[in-house]
Amino acid sequence: MLDMNEALVFSEAAEDAQVLFDLLRAHFPGIKVKHCGKRYEDTSGEGLVVLHIKRMLTGLGFEVRIYCEGSEYTHLEKSRDEVFSEPEINRERRMLRLAVFRALAGVFEGKEQFAGLSPWGVLTGVRPTKIARRLFEEGFATERVLRHLVLDYAISPEKAELVTTVVQGQTAFIPDKKEAKKAIGIYLGIPFCPSRCHYCSFPAVSIKKMGHLLADYLEGLKKEISVVAAAVSERNLLVQTVYIGGGTPTVLSAQELRELLLLVKQSFSLRAGAEITVEAGRPDTLNEDKLRVMKELGVGRVSVNPQTMQGDTLKRIGRGHTVEDIFNAYELVRKAGISVINMDLIVGLPGETVRDVEETVRSVVNLGPENITLHALAIKRAALYRQSSIKLPGLREGSTMMAITQGTLQEAGYKPYYLYRQKESIAQGENVGYALPDTECLYNIEMIEERRFIIGFGVGAGSKFINVRDWSLHNQYNPKDIGVYLARLDDIAAMKVDKVKAFVYNNF
Ligand code: SF4
Repeated sequence: MLDMNEALVFSEAAEDAQVLFDLLRAHFPGIKVKHCGKRYEDTSGEGLVVLHIKRMLTGLGFEVRIYCEGSEYTHLEKSRDEVFSEPEINRERRMLRLAVFRALAGVFEGKEQFAGLSPWGVLTGVRPTKIARRLFEEGFATERVLRHLVLDYAISPEKAELVTTVVQGQTAFIPDKKEAKKAIGIYLGIPFCPSRCHYCSFPAVSIKKMGHLLADYLEGLKKEISVVAAAVSERNLLVQTVYIGGGTPTVLSAQELRELLLLVKQSFSLRAGAEITVEAGRPDTLNEDKLRVMKELGVGRVSVNPQTMQGDTLKRIGRGHTVEDIFNAYELVRKAGISVINMDLIVGLPGETVRDVEETVRSVVNLGPENITLHALAIKRAALYRQSSIKLPGLREGSTMMAITQGTLQEAGYKPYYLYRQKESIAQGENVGYALPDTECLYNIEMIEERRFIIGFGVGAGSKFINVRDWSLHNQYNPKDIGVYLARLDDIAAMKVDKVKAFVYNNF
């Protein structure tokens, strides 16, 4: 990518600089965007990108000039005749981003040393599927949805195809209003892991260092569940999906897992065939006893997450287990008769080549798990990597890795069924869940598509309080620190009871 540290924005409106912030950061990681007022003044600093934005007087459009390393690049973006419904403010922001994106294309053109622009065009949000879903729900045919994504959001044809495939495949799993009023999803967070992976940005702590907090934590978690579950059951709401994540829930003993699963089953009314997932983020935390408990208590999906099948990389990223552990864990889960196994992989881990990534995905496909989830490595603020200098793939190499892994999975019969993006992912990559037919994880779809009332319990757990009438949404997160969570437990539970009451009141 072009190495830029600062963008100076000259525009009629100060908000324009803010609108461009995410777009510019996506293309120039770490860039600072500064609004310099209305009138453009010559700033001949080297390597600076200077944007001169002018709103067109008639019709919606923007004229953008970019000054970069002594050259000027201009683009005039006008609204197309073929429009689709979107709030006026969104349309303006999209047009502005589009104008800048296309002017930037001029900056990159013919410069071999630069990898190019993001295949996600002007989309900087985490849920591109929502745009495609809205278009489909307005009755647009696939061809038109694809055209809109490519022309109006500048998404590459390949990504547009991926998004529409995911959205069309999800149709049967998206609750309608009637269904969404009846059943909810729940999430339980166990924020302990055997050790902390170097790339981790979750609120997870090492059980070796913080294990003394586990008993209190479980007690607090059970209290939160019991108080809220009473309100849920009183209002005859069923539970459709249960997801136990973290952290690594399988750091719990078989007995602790049993108590937690029993509490869930006794406190909520689980729908017949409700989906229960347990993440065994680290393969070395599984054993026969834990799996027996899970099977007995209705767990139908277990995640055994290798991230990579390269032993050297596992050491480098602080996973603390071997490739052999992954094979053993997979075998144990199969023997236990859990019907769906998911395996998470990360594309773009430090020091890995395209060949390493290709070998990893082939090795996992050979095992034959029902679900495989591909993540593009995201370097978030909390990760240790943030403070160290590591070698990561650039846009071209990372894109090749993503294309090879996605292609291999599709050839092997896996279909993409949910998708989301994260900021600061390598190669502007996306996270995609793949599944063999009829093994899709409902909870994952519901979390991303936000059409189900989801209550999160425990440290860092997110809740999605939706209003079914207009699908409006309020996201709420529990504290990320165990001490703070325990101290505020009563208030947290009381707030959720209120949300449950409001959900029922608003929707019936
Ligand atoms: S297993 Fe997952 S939650 Fe635990 S430290 Fe590693 S990345 Fe973080």
